[in-house]
Amino acid sequence: MKSVGAEFMRRRMLVVMLIWSFCLFGGTVWMALLMLTGWKPWSMVSGNFNELAERQQWNEVNVTTNGPVFLDRNGYAMNHISRVFEVLPAQCAMPSWTNRVVKETAITVARPVIGVATKDAGGVVGLEKSLDRDIRTPFAYVPKIRWTMNATGNTCETSYINAGAPYYPLHVQTTIDRSIQEDIEQILNNFRVKKGAVVILDMRTADVIVMASRPVWRISPQSWRNTALEAVAPGSIFKLVTWLAMAQQVDRIPKQEVKCTGHGDRINGVRCWSEAGHGQMNGLEALVQSCNAWFAGNAKDVSMIQLKTIARRLGLFQRIGSEGQWSGEQSGDFAIGADDMYERAQSMIGQRNVRMTPLQAANLMVTIWNEGKVATPRVVTAITDARGMVRKQFPVKWLSGIRVGLPVEYAALKVALRNTVERGTGKILHNSVLGVAGKTGTAQNTNTEHQWFIGYTPADAPKYAFAVVIEDLSPNLSSQVLPLTKEIVTRMSKNKM
Ligand SMILES: [Zn+2]
Repeated sequence: MKSVGAEFMRRRMLVVMLIWSFCLFGGTVWMALLMLTGWKPWSMVSGNFNELAERQQWNEVNVTTNGPVFLDRNGYAMNHISRVFEVLPAQCAMPSWTNRVVKETAITVARPVIGVATKDAGGVVGLEKSLDRDIRTPFAYVPKIRWTMNATGNTCETSYINAGAPYYPLHVQTTIDRSIQEDIEQILNNFRVKKGAVVILDMRTADVIVMASRPVWRISPQSWRNTALEAVAPGSIFKLVTWLAMAQQVDRIPKQEVKCTGHGDRINGVRCWSEAGHGQMNGLEALVQSCNAWFAGNAKDVSMIQLKTIARRLGLFQRIGSEGQWSGEQSGDFAIGADDMYERAQSMIGQRNVRMTPLQAANLMVTIWNEGKVATPRVVTAITDARGMVRKQFPVKWLSGIRVGLPVEYAALKVALRNTVERGTGKILHNSVLGVAGKTGTAQNTNTEHQWFIGYTPADAPKYAFAVVIEDLSPNLSSQVLPLTKEIVTRMSKNKM
């Protein structure tokens, strides 16, 4: 009986050993398979890392995306300098970069100027698009931080990847003043401007200091427009061009007079906006009062071709922005049809088919102040790498070609621009902190109106040229654009340049 019991035990041992060896083999196969997928069995041993174990625990965090940093004219970042996707554990804090480790937020100053880039398509709008080829960082060069916690979880070891490629992110040096831009945006919000634009240029160089656009951008790409670059009817601000055209065709300072008898009467199909009429008008007073009758009454003196030619020499009806910086900029338009008195009269007051952009309108003020010298406005001066080495430069450029007018004509025009504010259609602006000179405009659309004011400030020795437009307002509203301009000029007076 004993031998039977021993035999049973032996068999049972054999079965157990078979099962055990089967499990061991299977377990080894499983472990091998798991290790192939990246599982590290030694990572299960806690409290006793060896050097190799710790190396396997590295995590990686992008310091930046592969996009550039846009800097304003004073060197302040306009988009987030570090767009880090993860926040490191507090133990990993390292004084040199902890302050840059933030979650990405979408705040960007002057978004319609800077635009949008997507990971797949690159730059799709704005400077991100115009400069796309020059500003992308190859993904292999995107700086990363590697970090790992030690066994106790109390300390952290860190190192950089791509620290040896110190050129990125690139820096785009813009001409925008972040502080003024943000304040102008706030003013536009306060005035509840739904559609329109504000452009402020440096009078010496035509560099863009502020460019604001409404409607505000939403998530949908359909809302990604920059109205400062879109052409709309200019209305009476175009009379400055007409006046200069007449000065070239007729008389240095047009002296011929026209009697304005008011809104009830038409001259070449055009009514003056003044109910009672302006009475006897000459060329300069017609600008100050923005009298339609005087311009319409002189339609015989300037052909459509002449008007268009002069306008082009003043920088209109062409993309005027500095080359390679303004994706989506429109050229504006001046369609020539019958060239009859009716068409001329309408075009001379900036109606009918005349179209120009707020950027062109602000630049026209730079042109007039500089006596016909036409600049091509910049918003970027240079692209540099992270060490400050220049990769590409965009110098100030003036349009070559025939210059319109003589100093004496511009001097007369500047007096008219001042008088417009002192006692003419812009007199709400008269007591602004800085003196203002400029021209009002109201353009009739089918069912709406655009209100314009273009000018410069201070009036004596201007530092800024600007264009302000509110589009698609209900007809016959009181002026919305002049109180808005007054706020804008008041803000600019606080800035020293
Ligand atoms: Zn009139």
